[in-house]
Amino acid sequence: MTTMSSESQAANNAASESLAPLVAALSLEEKVRLLTGQTIWRMYALPSIGLRSVAMSDGPVGVRGTGEIAGATSLLMPSPSGLAATWNLAHARRAGTMFATEARRFDVDVVLAPQINIQRTPISGRHFECYSEDPYLTTQIGAAVVGAMQDAGVAACAKHYVANDSENYRTEYLSNVSEQALREVYMAPFEHLVKEVGVWTVMAAYNGAVARGESAPMTEHDYLVNDVLKGEWGFDGVVMSDWMATKSTVESAIGGLDLVMPGPGGPWEEKLLQAVRNGDVPESVIDDKVARLLLLAQRTGGFGGALPAPSQPDDAQFLRTLAAEATVVLRRGDDFIVDPSQVKSIALIGANAVNAYVLGGGSSTVHPHYVVGYEAGLQTAFPDADITLLRGGSTLIHTPKADLTRDLTEPATGNPGLSVTELDAAGAPITSHVDTAWNGWLREPALECTEVVLEADLQLREAGEHRIDVGVVGAHRIVIDGTEVSTSEEVVGSNVILNSSTDSPPGFGLTVSTDEPRKIRIRVEIKTVDAAGFGRFVRADFRHGRPGPTIEDEIREAVDAAREADLVLLVVGTNSEVESEGFDRLSLSLPGRQDELVRRVLEVAPDAIVTVNAGAPVLLPWLNDAKTVLWSWFPGQECGHAIADVITGNTEPAGRLPWTLPAAESDVNNMGTTPDADMMLNYPEGVHVGYREWERTQRTPAAPFGHGLGWTDFTYTPHASASVNADGTVSVSVLITNTGVRAGAEVVQAYVEAPSPSPAGIERPVRWLGGFARVSVDVGRSATVTVHLPRRTFEVWDTAAHAWTLPGGDYVIAVGRSVRDHCARTIITLPSSGSTAPAVRPMPA
Ligand code: BGC
Repeated sequence: MTTMSSESQAANNAASESLAPLVAALSLEEKVRLLTGQTIWRMYALPSIGLRSVAMSDGPVGVRGTGEIAGATSLLMPSPSGLAATWNLAHARRAGTMFATEARRFDVDVVLAPQINIQRTPISGRHFECYSEDPYLTTQIGAAVVGAMQDAGVAACAKHYVANDSENYRTEYLSNVSEQALREVYMAPFEHLVKEVGVWTVMAAYNGAVARGESAPMTEHDYLVNDVLKGEWGFDGVVMSDWMATKSTVESAIGGLDLVMPGPGGPWEEKLLQAVRNGDVPESVIDDKVARLLLLAQRTGGFGGALPAPSQPDDAQFLRTLAAEATVVLRRGDDFIVDPSQVKSIALIGANAVNAYVLGGGSSTVHPHYVVGYEAGLQTAFPDADITLLRGGSTLIHTPKADLTRDLTEPATGNPGLSVTELDAAGAPITSHVDTAWNGWLREPALECTEVVLEADLQLREAGEHRIDVGVVGAHRIVIDGTEVSTSEEVVGSNVILNSSTDSPPGFGLTVSTDEPRKIRIRVEIKTVDAAGFGRFVRADFRHGRPGPTIEDEIREAVDAAREADLVLLVVGTNSEVESEGFDRLSLSLPGRQDELVRRVLEVAPDAIVTVNAGAPVLLPWLNDAKTVLWSWFPGQECGHAIADVITGNTEPAGRLPWTLPAAESDVNNMGTTPDADMMLNYPEGVHVGYREWERTQRTPAAPFGHGLGWTDFTYTPHASASVNADGTVSVSVLITNTGVRAGAEVVQAYVEAPSPSPAGIERPVRWLGGFARVSVDVGRSATVTVHLPRRTFEVWDTAAHAWTLPGGDYVIAVGRSVRDHCARTIITLPSSGSTAPAVRPMPA
C-alpha cells in the first residue's frame, strides 16, 4: 500500500480542522460520493448540511458556462499571452474581475483558469493559453488575475500542476525535468499563487512527472502534491484532476488528489468506498478531502449567504482597450498612424482578415456574444473608405465545410439537410430524422445506439473539379458516389479527447470532375464514440471544395487590389488546424502561402501594415522587408475595433513580447514534444528555458523576449541605482525620457546576471527577468522608474540540499527594453544566505 509522509499528513489535517464537525456528521458513503463530480461541470450537493452544488467552467479566455443554458454566450477576452503582453497588472486584475462577473452571471463558482504552465516550446498546442515563457511574468499576471477573481468570491484554478507543457501523448508522458528547473521555472508560479495569493483550487495535470525519485501521474504524485503543494507550501484548497486524468483508485486517493472530475464514473466512487473499507485508504484521508471541498464551498458561497456583488463595468470597452494595448509593434515605419480622412480605399487582405481567428481551439473555447471582424472594425473607423476584402488564398489544409442549406439534400425527399439514422448493436434502426442544421456533431444518441448512418446528396452546381471529403472521428466507412473512400475499425473512446483533437478531424474523399450540374451521394457509417465523462457522440464534417479561383489567382487579385489602395492591411496568421489544445504544431511556418502573399503585396505596396493574428510564435521571413509589423494575438471579441484603434492612433499598441520570436526553426532547441520509448519527455535544457536558452546560445531571434516598440521612443540614462531593502528585496531605479512624438507607455525590464562562477553543481541562466515596471510618460517628459526585484529572484534551488539558497557575490542588473536591449546597468553585492547586511555599489560608467 502507498503511504503518505507524516509531513503531508500533518498539512492535510490542517485543512480538516475548522470543518471537522461538519465532516464528522457525514457517513462514509456521503463523503466518498462528494469526491467525484456529479456531472461534467458540477459537484454534488448535500442538502442535509446546506451544501448546494458547486459549479465549474473553463477558463482561461472567458467563462463558457456549464452548458445548462441553451445558446448561452460569453465575453471573449484576448488570448492569455496577449494579456501577459501588456505587462500591465491593473489589466490583469481587471481581467480577474471580469472572470468573476462572468462566473456569477452563469452561477459558476470555480473558473478553471489561469493556466500558468510555462511556454517551454513554441510548438506547444496550448501555448496561447499560457502567459509567458518566463516564470516571473507568468507569476505576476497569474497572481493579479487570481487575486481579483477570488476577492469577488469566485475560485480560481491554477492549472495544470505541473510541467504540462506539450500535447503529444499528453496523458501518458512523464516530464523528466531537473529538480532545479522544476522548482525555479515550472513550479515557481504555482508556489507563488499558493503561498502568496492563496489560490483555492489547483488542477493536477494529465501528464506525470519524475521528481525526487518518484515517477507518477500528477493525479497521484505523493511528493509533488502531498509533500510540496499541501505540505511545504501549505495549500489548503482542492486538488482536482484534469478531466478524466485519474488513473487509479488507491494511489490517487493517497497521492493527494481531492476531487475526480468529471463525474459520475471514474476510478473512485464505489471502488474508493471499498478501498476505505478494506483499509487501503485511511478514512482520515477521505475526511481531509471532504473538508477541503467544504472549505471551497464555504469560500464560494456554496452554503448560501451573501456573495460579493459582481461589478458592472463596461466590459466591451475594456476588452477593446486590452486587445489594442496588447498589440506588439515588432517593426514601425516613420509614421504608421493613419488619418482616416486621408483614406478613401482600403485593401484588407488575408485568410485571417476574412475569418479572424479570435480564440484558440480546445477546452478554453467560449461562444462569444459577437465578434467585431476586421472589416467591420475598419469600416467604423474609416466610414468614408471603400474596403476591398480579399482572402489571398486559402490557408486551410482541410477542404472547406459544405454549404448545408445550399448544397446538401436529404436523399429521400430532396429537401435541404441530411438523414441521420441511429442503429443498435444488431444493426437495427432505432430512430431516424432529417437534420437541417448539422454542425458536425450528434451528441448523446440513444443509449442502445452503437452506430449512426448519415446520408446526403451533394449538389455539384458548377462545372469543373469538386473535392468532396468527410472528416470523421473513430471507426467508420465512407462511401462517396458509390466508391468506398475510407474504412476504419479503430474504435475510439475517451482517448480521442486525451490524445488528439476533435475540432479538425482528418478527412477522406475524392475529386470529381463534371461538365454539368449533378449530385453525388455521400454515405457515412460511423461508430459512436463513448468518451466517458465527456459524453457520447459521433463526429462527421461534410466538406466540399468547389471549383473556383486557385490560390495563385487569389494572390494575384490581392496584389492588384493592394496596388490601387490608399491603405493596405494584411492579416496573416494561424487557424484552428494549427493552434489548438489536443495537438502540438509540426512547424513554425505560417500555414498556406501567406509568406509569399506578404512578399508580393509588399512589392507593390511597401507601406502595407502587416498584422499577425496568432497566439504562438510563427516565422516571419519577410519581417525586415515590411515597414510596420504588428502582433495582434487572438484578439477576442473586439478584434476589428482594436486593430482600427491601433492604426488610427486611438490606443497605443503598447505590448511587449512575453516570449521569443524565432527567426528560424533551427535556432529553437525545444522543437520536439514526442516522449521517448519509455514515455519520458526529457527537458535537457534544464533552467535554460525560452529566452534564457537564446541568451546561452547567443543566437539572434527575429525579436527578443520583452521587445515591443510601442508608438513613441524612450531613452534611458545609462546609470541605474540599486538598493537592498530590509526584507531582502532589491529596488532598481532608472531615469527614462519619452523622446518621441506621442505620450506612451514603457515597460522597464530588469534582468539579473549571477556572480560568476556559480557555486559547484548550480547552473544559472546567463540572465533572467528579475522585475519590471510599466509607466505612462508624456511627450518630452522624464520619469524615474523603480523596479522591485523579489529576494527569490536571486535565490537558486540547491538540489543537493533540496532548499533555496542565495549564492552571495556581485549581481549585475541590466535595465532596458528587452532581454537584448540593455540601456542601464548597475551591480549589487549580496551576501550568501544567512549572512548579514548586503552592500550596494553602482557600476562604473
Ligand atoms: C483541459 C483542461 C480543462 C478541462 C475541462 C481538459 O481537457 O486540459 O484545461 O479545464 O479539459 O474542459
